[in-house]
Amino acid sequence: MRDVVVMKFGGSCLRNSDGIRQLVNIVSKEERAVVVVSALSGVTDRILDTVTGHLSEKRIESVISFLRERHISLLSEVSSQNACSEGRRAVDRLLRHMERLLYGVYYTRELTPRTRATLLSFGERLSSHIVASALSTAGLPSRVFEADSLGIVTDTDYENATADLQATRKLAGRKLSAVISKGITPVITGFFGRDRSYNITLLGRNGTDYSASIIAYAINSTRLVIWKDVDGFLTADPSLVPGAKLIDEISYDEAAELSYFGAEVLHPKAVDPARMGNIGIRIMNIANASSQGTLITSSKKETIGVVKSVSCLKNLSILRVYVTGGGYTSGTISGISGYLGRAGVNIISATTSQTCIAFLLRTEDIVRSSDALAPLVSHGLDKVETEKGVALLCAVGEGLGRTRGIAARVFGAIASAGVNVGMMSAGASTAAYHFTVSMRDLETAARAVHTVFFGG
Ligand code: ASP
Ligand code: MG
Repeated sequence: MRDVVVMKFGGSCLRNSDGIRQLVNIVSKEERAVVVVSALSGVTDRILDTVTGHLSEKRIESVISFLRERHISLLSEVSSQNACSEGRRAVDRLLRHMERLLYGVYYTRELTPRTRATLLSFGERLSSHIVASALSTAGLPSRVFEADSLGIVTDTDYENATADLQATRKLAGRKLSAVISKGITPVITGFFGRDRSYNITLLGRNGTDYSASIIAYAINSTRLVIWKDVDGFLTADPSLVPGAKLIDEISYDEAAELSYFGAEVLHPKAVDPARMGNIGIRIMNIANASSQGTLITSSKKETIGVVKSVSCLKNLSILRVYVTGGGYTSGTISGISGYLGRAGVNIISATTSQTCIAFLLRTEDIVRSSDALAPLVSHGLDKVETEKGVALLCAVGEGLGRTRGIAARVFGAIASAGVNVGMMSAGASTAAYHFTVSMRDLETAARAVHTVFFGG
């Protein structure tokens, strides 16, 4: 199945009937394609909002009727009568199921991560039928596959699962190849999979990119296209740096670092299956299909300036943990990070000295982190301090860690802009280094670094 193209369509492409027609148009140009879909735009957020808040009969009725109205009206706009009534039956069946689950949560007053994951999977289950219905209406035979019954197998992390690529290839790869050979276009739900015991697991927010990459690996395809509403990876966040330019080509490592450090173009894990299967990922803009977008491949072309992009993460905080003699004692970092990990806190970056270990965290995780470490204060820990209002800037480029003078140019630009650098980290990857500035200085700092490498 090397020549079959796997196409992922994000929620922003599935906003209205124009978006779905555009999708059909794109898919109809391909000889053989697999379609992987997100939920309709805004749907996952709406479900999340419902299950996060206080449930009541009224809230359940309101979300179910919102979802019914949204999906049925779009379905009737994009499908023939026949396809429409088939799609409608599927939507009704799914909503009945979802409503029962919500009542289960309401009556038991218990929402486990497992049930939450199951509830959140309904956005993609619903949208897949609309897309399949629109494709059949256009004369393209298609069939919906829900990721759990198809066999997207993962570990048991309900909110941020990792795929078992070999198990998935065995199960899903085989089924899909048989269907594709018959000239049918599979329409597959993104965002979730299942563990070995058939529990639904989510692949993280915006996880459909990852789903699509897993599926491309499973069918042995070499082509993955991610359709969204931006042109691709840019040289900076355009909301901070108006002169940001599109990057034509980027390596797997560069894409992974940029995705991890703030570029919201691709799910950071989507790179892993692609790397293993040597799959080229092309990011394309559904609203600007004439642009070639960004191609992500294994080729490690080092550009002349070396830095390819400057990305940023906002709303971070630094947690400083003071440990007298910490630098001399073995196990200090693992002990503290163990506490943070068990509290569900994701450490973005860390630096250490003899007296203090500094962790860079999301501000929303700060209270949980200090609470988690509270029992350790005066039992080995001297004190814990937090600094809010921090942003991270990350310079990414293949070979950056091996090239003389890059750090001097980056920090020279920051210093000339009159901005102070907080934590910094270099050397972990040869393709990236990052440092913090205060949120107030973010825009100035981002523009200063961008100007050095890409002009004004
Ligand atoms: N619908 C999910 C989300 O909004 C997954 C995705 O869109 O990729 O996070
Ligand atoms: Mg989304």
